[in-house]
Amino acid sequence: MRYSMPNPRYRLYIPFRSYFKFFIDLILNRIQKGPDVCKLEQKLSGYVNISNVICVSQARFGIYLLIKNLIIPGQKVLMSPYTIADVVNMVVCAGGIPLFADITKQTCNISIEGIKKKIDSEKNIGAVLVTHLHGIAAPIDKIQDICREYNIPLIEDAAQAFGGTYNNHKLGTIADFGIYSFGSYKNITSWYGGAIVSNNHEIIKNIRDELEQYEFQKTTWLLKKVISTLLINIATTPIVFKLFTFWIFRFGFLKNIRFINKKVEIELNLKKLEIIPPHYLAKITPFQARMALSQLAQINNHTLIRRTFAKQYFEGLTGFKQLTIPKVEENNGDIYTYLPIQYKDRHTLLQWMMYHCRDIGAQHLKNCADLPDFEDYYQDCPIARSVAEEVILLPTYPRYQSSEVQKNIDTIKYFFKTNK
Ligand SMILES: *Cc1c(COP(=O)(O)O)cnc(C)c1O
Repeated sequence: MRYSMPNPRYRLYIPFRSYFKFFIDLILNRIQKGPDVCKLEQKLSGYVNISNVICVSQARFGIYLLIKNLIIPGQKVLMSPYTIADVVNMVVCAGGIPLFADITKQTCNISIEGIKKKIDSEKNIGAVLVTHLHGIAAPIDKIQDICREYNIPLIEDAAQAFGGTYNNHKLGTIADFGIYSFGSYKNITSWYGGAIVSNNHEIIKNIRDELEQYEFQKTTWLLKKVISTLLINIATTPIVFKLFTFWIFRFGFLKNIRFINKKVEIELNLKKLEIIPPHYLAKITPFQARMALSQLAQINNHTLIRRTFAKQYFEGLTGFKQLTIPKVEENNGDIYTYLPIQYKDRHTLLQWMMYHCRDIGAQHLKNCADLPDFEDYYQDCPIARSVAEEVILLPTYPRYQSSEVQKNIDTIKYFFKTNK
């Protein structure tokens, strides 16, 4: 096999002109001016076909607002433990008690059996939160049926699934409430941002009233993010990455150098919060809304490309019994923000990939049900426990290339051929 320099494992969707626009608006003091938040809400409402949209400063803050307005303090919130820890924190800050149900191995999403078991055996469940992780849909229609039967409100965390569909309905709009994220790693990004969607006028009105009392997200807070993403944008520009960045991370990974590896990990400072950080309590700025608006037109096209890459991986890698791969089917509406595969000896496979010049990384999400900080909410979720140790994220972002996908497939095949 011949090796060639890889494309990076991820690239941000932030075009360089957005930085330019940010600094112009900063200088002219226009970040907080303009009717664009309202415009974005209308556009989103049309795009996902739902009556109410509220843009928020971060998806996690949207989750907080929803939970706070849906439950009585002290009620349980049924959710997957395989999600970002700060989502669990938001549930706690909003007065809820996280109740973890186990996931389905192949999709990494909360399982119907897990939900049924908990709903049958536990009392005082105030809401159910379902995440479409990696842009792969959970069986949201069946979960909605269960929740209707028990009269429990259902929220879809579609933070990673904007633009995806399920039975021809947009993910995020099938349950009673939905959440999108426009955070810096998402498929539409305004550095920080997100949206709550629903057809429930009453709850939406309450949330809108609450939001009115907050200020715009602070420009200094935004500026910090703008600078850090600019550095990532530069480091992942192909020429810089191939000549420079990749070698540092390859060296760090192969030699196990913690301070280098930490740069590509998430979920490092997992701490329980009981009071929402004050800077979360903010409104999205018109500048950020303009940025999200400018990206809406490309979303369907990007989704198509990601699906093509996912299918290529799926076809190339099915047949290896040791690997778990989600089904990539022609007629589903999953958007595959990555293609998550699972392998028992993840570290060995990743070392093989990096050694053979393929920039591939682990999914660093934790099984929150096992985290020491959340021990009060401990539940035995054996599938989430093993999945959290095994997921590898194969890149599918639109600027990745089919030839790169193929090289990843070939290198994985070579691994199994060599390590029989
Ligand atoms: C990114 C993400 C969030 C949080 O989004 P923010 O906009 O960063 O608050 C929540 N849930 C999932 C599954 C995510 O991937």
